[in-house]
Amino acid sequence: MYPNDSLENWYKGQGLWSDVAPEDWNNWKWQLKNRIKSVEEIEAHLELTPDERAGCLFANKKLALAITPYFFNLIDREDPDCPIRRQVIPRSGEMKTSPEELLDPVGEENTKPVDGIVHRYPDRVLFLVTDRCAAYCRYCTRSRLVSNAQDYNFHPEFESGLEYIRNTPQIRDVLLSGGDPLLLSNRKLDYLLGELRKIPHVEFVRIGSRIPVFLPQRIDEDLCEIFKKHGPIWMSIHVNHPRECTHALREACERLSFAGVPIGNQSVLLKGINDDSDTMKSLIHRLLMMRVRPYYLYQCDLITGSAHLRADPRKGIEIIKSLRGHTTGYSIPQFVIDAPGGGGKVPINPEYVKKVTDEAIIMRNFSGEEYSYPLVATASDTPDPKAPRLEPILS
Ligand code: SF4
Repeated sequence: MYPNDSLENWYKGQGLWSDVAPEDWNNWKWQLKNRIKSVEEIEAHLELTPDERAGCLFANKKLALAITPYFFNLIDREDPDCPIRRQVIPRSGEMKTSPEELLDPVGEENTKPVDGIVHRYPDRVLFLVTDRCAAYCRYCTRSRLVSNAQDYNFHPEFESGLEYIRNTPQIRDVLLSGGDPLLLSNRKLDYLLGELRKIPHVEFVRIGSRIPVFLPQRIDEDLCEIFKKHGPIWMSIHVNHPRECTHALREACERLSFAGVPIGNQSVLLKGINDDSDTMKSLIHRLLMMRVRPYYLYQCDLITGSAHLRADPRKGIEIIKSLRGHTTGYSIPQFVIDAPGGGGKVPINPEYVKKVTDEAIIMRNFSGEEYSYPLVATASDTPDPKAPRLEPILS
């Protein structure tokens, strides 16, 4: 159960870094330069468990370890099971590969017409523009290439990606991702967005980013001016737990909204982190308070070394069932499984339809009561004497 969602309970301040000048703390480059990246740096602030220590020592062979001071402050340092801690501090589970796990769990490598472009759906592409992130999530779907810990040697090719999009008229929607596109300099982002918006068949651009969550200081006025210049731009952020909803994140989302960027949230269902209804309900309520629409709840992909973080997908169905009818419909995300091997996103829903006959759909509502909706119109030519009289409209 999580505390009351009112704003006064949201995290604010510099925490462990209270002695840092606010102009440094609020500077995204200072945050990046002062990231926590080693066992020694973590242990200066909290005691690692033996399991975490082993995970940290292994991390740089799989996915780099890095945490911004801003995000580190959200960790409960007394609780090894803290939901923030488990997302960014490695554990020994990362060293084990289960038989069902894959290096490229959603088959992106098979749908790459040029380096950096994934073209799976006919009218849209994923454009991978960097392999770096502000901090690294221990369940990252692209851990094969992100941070280059596995020597993937990803070299983002803006020009060949742009050329492919220019020459493929069916592409109407481009999703920039990576790594995190908002780690690019303003100059590069301005160029990339400007070139994409010059392509007549590209109707809009989406950006997938966890920067607002790891590094809200990056969402400054200069960046928002670039978004205003090249809109429509839509953004998907990635918040998994209500404790990530801080005043700094709320203010960053407001700046984006006021720059005309609609924001959706994609959460990943994670074992012991957010795989219960109370946590998810608190999260979606807080998202709406930040002007963010809960969009997807993802079943965690079958990434190598992720078994300790993957929740049972049946919990995802239960969570959605516990929300539907019990809170604002607008706040309920779509639960999806990205089909292993490259089948794309499949919506997974609780069962509300009991039966479809030739005459009716028999369904259950949110509290399990049964209703039927007729499929065949039963209007008769004989007027119902009790029906209100409809007068002809005279012009
Ligand atoms: S921010 Fe996104 S790309 Fe980066 S590590 Fe997390 S999930 Fe992976």
